[in-house]
Formats: sequence, structure tokens, C-alpha cells
Amino acid sequence: MTQYPVHVAFPGRLIFVGFGSIGQGVLPLILRHVGIKPDQITIVTADEAGEKVAAEYGVRFVKHPLTRENFKSVLDPLVGRGDFLLNLSVDVSSIALIQLCWEKGALYLDTCIEPWPGGYTDPTISPAKRTNYALRESALALRETMKRAPTAVLTHGANPGLVSHFVKQALLDIATDTGVEHGDPGSRDDWARLAQKLGAGCVTDVNALVVEGDDLVAGRYAFGGATVAREKVTTPVKVFAVMPKTFSAEGATAGAGAVQTPSLTVESRVKVVDKRAKEGDHVNLDAAPLIVGVGRGFNAREDLALGDELAGALGAVVGCTKSLADFEWLGEDRIIGLSGAKTAPDLYLSVGISGQVQHTVGVSSAKLIAAINKDKDAPIFKLADYGIVGDLFEVVPRLTEEVKKARAGS
Ligand SMILES: Cc1cc2nc3c(=O)[nH]c(=O)nc-3n(C[C@H](O)[C@H](O)[C@H](O)COP(=O)(O)OP(=O)(O)OC[C@H]3O[C@@H](n4cnc5c(N)ncnc54)[C@H](O)[C@@H]3O)c2cc1C
Repeated sequence: MTQYPVHVAFPGRLIFVGFGSIGQGVLPLILRHVGIKPDQITIVTADEAGEKVAAEYGVRFVKHPLTRENFKSVLDPLVGRGDFLLNLSVDVSSIALIQLCWEKGALYLDTCIEPWPGGYTDPTISPAKRTNYALRESALALRETMKRAPTAVLTHGANPGLVSHFVKQALLDIATDTGVEHGDPGSRDDWARLAQKLGAGCVTDVNALVVEGDDLVAGRYAFGGATVAREKVTTPVKVFAVMPKTFSAEGATAGAGAVQTPSLTVESRVKVVDKRAKEGDHVNLDAAPLIVGVGRGFNAREDLALGDELAGALGAVVGCTKSLADFEWLGEDRIIGLSGAKTAPDLYLSVGISGQVQHTVGVSSAKLIAAINKDKDAPIFKLADYGIVGDLFEVVPRLTEEVKKARAGS
């Protein structure tokens, strides 16, 4: 049998958090090169991945997804003074685990810097605070508070952590190198014109941007919102027009980038001959903080009065599915989704809406989603934070009454 060098003896316990491909690859190496027995090792992970590998090596396997709420109680009996936590997970906060290890006197090693789920995508947090750069800053800040703690080693995080440094510099370089007056583009059209002027490839309706190697890859909905296309621009100058409210417009707080607001004068072959206000009731769903969405669960146009009344009580704006606009029960301005508004209200209350993806792409950025539907299996419930399974003709009037009472009392 091959003899491998054992570099160090480790008498404590070793806890793997996460056991994906890295964990499964690393376990045999640890058993090979570190003086440790399988019964000193425990794997705590979110799913079955690697269970057979753990069994093969005689290592205890605990399937218990760690959350903000449970990580301390799950890890408490497993980590103590002189032990070692190896974090190979995603969606478990590195900062939280480092703090726990420091409290317990355990060593810590990480392959990345991870936030809790949603840490990269939570629209209520500024984009700068969602980067790995910001996570790294918070990890570094820990040093000041816990100077005599055991060692924690973690990496910078490549995407978007390290990348954010390069992107900032690259943006400054592009502006300098091309010497283009780029004005103050504020709309998709402006960005498209700017792209044309720069000879740059342009992707519009972008809802995600990630750096992969040397490429900036944009995500945008495709096939009616059923899937997300990943698109790469190959021209040296690239323009990405992001969907409204995908990223909040706060200034970057990390790093030394500067926001520039130059002027844009671009000749267009489009000649504006007249401007007229659109007829019918006009609503601005983009800016509405509260929206009541109505769908085909309402049997007839007259029934929509129920939705209006609920919206009135809440101080909300009424939006609808495309189906209702197709019936001409409500104007096209009220459509939410792929063919209409992409909203990000504080509350989206969906009533009698099934929750097809073409609709939900317009509400997925809402801070809170509540749904009323008589079908407990309606897809909208997968997205909703709160749901009422019931007949809207019974639920909505009662809810309206309760809202009115609550408002009168406040
Ligand atoms: C290219 C393309 C683009 C599209 N763009 C959009 C878009 O931008 N926005 C959009 O909304 N749609 C869009 N659609 C249409 C979309 O696919 C769905 O057909 C539409 O969203 C469904 O609307 P709905 O939920 O009102 O109706 P349905 O899917 O028919 O759902 C009605 C729901 O009401 C519930 N219900 C019925 N009666 C009651 C009751 N008494 N009480 C409680 N619940 C009840 C039912 O259980 C059901 O879940 C698009 C489609 C395509 C192909």
C-alpha cells in the first residue's frame, strides 16, 4: 500500500461545514496527510451530496442545513477549544462562523467569504454592501475586536470581491481611453445610443452581471421569462443597461471609484413630431410602494371593485396580469411582468393570480409578497412570503374590513 507523508498530527475534532465537490476532494487528502482519524471528523452539510463518500471513509455525516437561527445550536456540541472548522459551504455566513470559532477557541479555514442566503441579491442592501469586497472589509474589521482569538484564514473571494477592484479601474480607463462624451444616459434608449456611438456591444434588460475570467457576463430573461439567458459582449467597450430597480442607485461606499455625469448629445434618426399624454387612467407602478395585483380569479370586470376597495383601504395602486389587460378590463399601464412593469414595491399583494413566470418576473424584487388564491398549489405561493388559500370573494371583503379597522384605529 502506498505510504503518504503525514505532515502534522491533529488531536482535536475537525468539522467540515459543507461537503460539495471541494469537501469530497479534500477529505481523502486530509486523512492521507494529516494525523487524524475518521472518528475525529464530522461533516455538517445541507443535503445528501457526498454522503456515500463520507460513509466510505467512515466519517460522521450530519445533514442539517445551517441557518442564521440554528447554526449555533447545531455546531455547539461539535466545535470546542482546539478544534478546527473547515468551511466549504455556500449560503452560510463566513463572518458568523468565524465569530463562533473565536468564541469557542477553534481554528477556522475558509475557501471564500460567503454571506447568508440573499446576501448578494437583497435589493434592500446597497450593491456596494453586497459585494465580496464588503464581506472582506467586515472580516478584516473583526481583527480589531478579537485580537487574541485563534487564527482564522479566509480568501478574498474572487467574484465579485477581487473583481470589483478591477472593474472600478477598468471603468475609469475606458472613459479616459475612448475620450467619448458620454453624457448622462438615464434610459435604455440612451444607453443603446451611447453603445452605438462607442461601437460597443450592448445588452439591455440586464438583471445580473457577473465576471467570469476575462468576461463580463450579463443575465437577462429569455423565452418569455421562462429562463435566464447569459450573454457576453465581445467588443472592447461594453454597455449593459440594467432593468429598473435591479440594483439600487446608492453611491458605492467601498473603494475609491468616482461617479461621473458627463453630457450626452447623440444624433438620432428618430424625429419627434408631437408629444401627447396617453389616454385612459395612467398609473406609475414602478414607483408604487404598495401594489394590489389582480388576476383572472376575478370572474368579471365588475368584480374588480373588490380589488379597488382593498387597494383603496391599503393606499395601494392596482396592477394586473396581462390576461386582464387583454380582456380590456384594465389598461396596459397596469400590466405587471414581462410585457409590463417590473416593480419593486414594499408589499405586493396578489389576488386571484396563478403566478406564471411571465407575471412574477415583474414582482420578484418586491420586499414582501402576499398572495390570495383558492388553489393551494398555485405557483404564486412558491414566491409568496405570506399566503391565504381561499376564495377571494370571501377573503378580500373581510381583509378590506380588517385593514379599514386597523387604519381607523391607528
Ligand atoms: C410572451 C408572453 C408574455 C407575457 N407577459 C405577461 C406579463 O407581462 N404579465 C402577466 O401577468 N402575464 C403575462 N403573460 C401571460 C402569463 O403567461 C399568464 O397567462 C398570466 O399571467 C396568467 O394570468 P392570471 O394569473 O391572471 O390567470 P390564471 O393563470 O388563469 O390564474 C388565475 C388564478 O386565479 C385563481 N382563482 C380563480 N378563482 C379564484 C377565487 N375565487 N379566489 C381565489 N383565487 C381564484 C386560480 O386558482 C388561478 O391560480 C405573458 C405570456 C406570454 C406568452
